[in-house]
Amino acid sequence: MDFSLSSEQQMVVDTVRSFVEKELYPHEDEVERTNAVRPDLVREIKKKAIDNGLYAANMPEELGGGGLDTVTVSLMEMELGRANFALQYLVARPSNILRACAGDQVENYLLPTIRGDLTECLAMTEPNAGSDLRSMKTKAVKDGEHYVINGTKHFISHAELADYVVLFAATGEEEGPRGTRQKITSFLIDKATPGYEIAKGYNSVSHRGYHNNVLNFDNCRVHQSQVLGTADRGFDVANEWLGATRVQVAAMCLGRARRAMELATEWAAQRKQFGQQIGKFQGISFKLADMATEIKAAELLTLMAASKYDQGAMTDSDAAMAKLYATEALGRAADEAIQIYGGMGLMDEMPLERIWRDARVERIWEGTSEIQRHIISRAMLRPLGG
Ligand SMILES: Cc1cc2nc3c(=O)[nH]c(=O)nc-3n(C[C@H](O)[C@H](O)[C@H](O)COP(=O)(O)OP(=O)(O)OC[C@H]3O[C@@H](n4cnc5c(N)ncnc54)[C@H](O)[C@@H]3O)c2cc1C
Repeated sequence: MDFSLSSEQQMVVDTVRSFVEKELYPHEDEVERTNAVRPDLVREIKKKAIDNGLYAANMPEELGGGGLDTVTVSLMEMELGRANFALQYLVARPSNILRACAGDQVENYLLPTIRGDLTECLAMTEPNAGSDLRSMKTKAVKDGEHYVINGTKHFISHAELADYVVLFAATGEEEGPRGTRQKITSFLIDKATPGYEIAKGYNSVSHRGYHNNVLNFDNCRVHQSQVLGTADRGFDVANEWLGATRVQVAAMCLGRARRAMELATEWAAQRKQFGQQIGKFQGISFKLADMATEIKAAELLTLMAASKYDQGAMTDSDAAMAKLYATEALGRAADEAIQIYGGMGLMDEMPLERIWRDARVERIWEGTSEIQRHIISRAMLRPLGG
């Protein structure tokens, strides 16, 4: 077992770290203050990411992407995760589900997305179907060569900026292992398609500048050629290509947790009370020790899951453990870093209050902590008939 980074991986880490510090950190205060990324700044960061070879680093080289394996993408995520989410998002890692594009979809969606000419969003969640996605009410009914789609999605990230949506909709029923269930199909739907409306979403406490939308589909007609993957097998497409997404979330959380820990460590070494550095009080130094240990444990879980993904051996539990532990470790690290800073930790002069706010959503999206625990325990109990 070799825990060292290859020279290529170290180069990726150094390049991304320097990009984050030079191109993203300087704009963080503005985004936090205005809750928006200026359109000219969007273009500028995107262009710099492309020029520096960081754009679409997760996509295959032969399609114009960076061709990085999942371990190296995770190392990259750890660096990008340090920065404000809305800014780091512009260094796009297109959704892996686009790898399911076939025929004309490759030219029309996959390649332009890798080049940075188009951006996508992904819509599964509905007001009454969150963790229980299979109960979704959005329906796509076959009508000749078309599907007619009706329904509402909510919480859909950056849909207002996306040129198209990867939409999941119910397309009938089938017998599953536990009785009748809905069949789900995924579609590629352009922003301008009649019947597809992007409405205002909700204001979230996490990730300022990164917005979500409500999507309404009202008799929206799409040709069957817009089906992504196989009709009625939308969850198979998602399972095949979105497995690494939870690992990416874990990696990004680690970046933010490390930033919080570094800030807290510097402060503990420098701030004096009662005539000595506060880091000399065990009440403070032990917090740092716990933070460092948890972050290291989360890093090992994350890189192990990524490595197993690259070998085609990652289980759902591997990804769930990485996501669960890293997101929860981030929550604790952000909270304790503020405690170490005292009152100043809560002020928006420091990135800590933002890291603390941003940490909260990570235990909810991409599968809540409870759902991750469900996945892990199911794998333990099922072989015993539980
Ligand atoms: C800011 C933001 C952006 C998002 N972006 C997107 C996006 O781009 N695309 C998209 O499709 N979705 C997106 N989501 C949706 C996100 O994935 C869901 O919020 C998440 O899956 C949880 O669904 P829910 O909020 O409806 O909670 P619910 O599923 O209603 O859960 C409520 C509570 O019940 C618990 N619970 C539910 N089922 C179980 C169970 N079986 N066992 C134990 N506990 C359970 C949950 O863990 C949670 O604590 C986003 C969400 C947010 C907040």
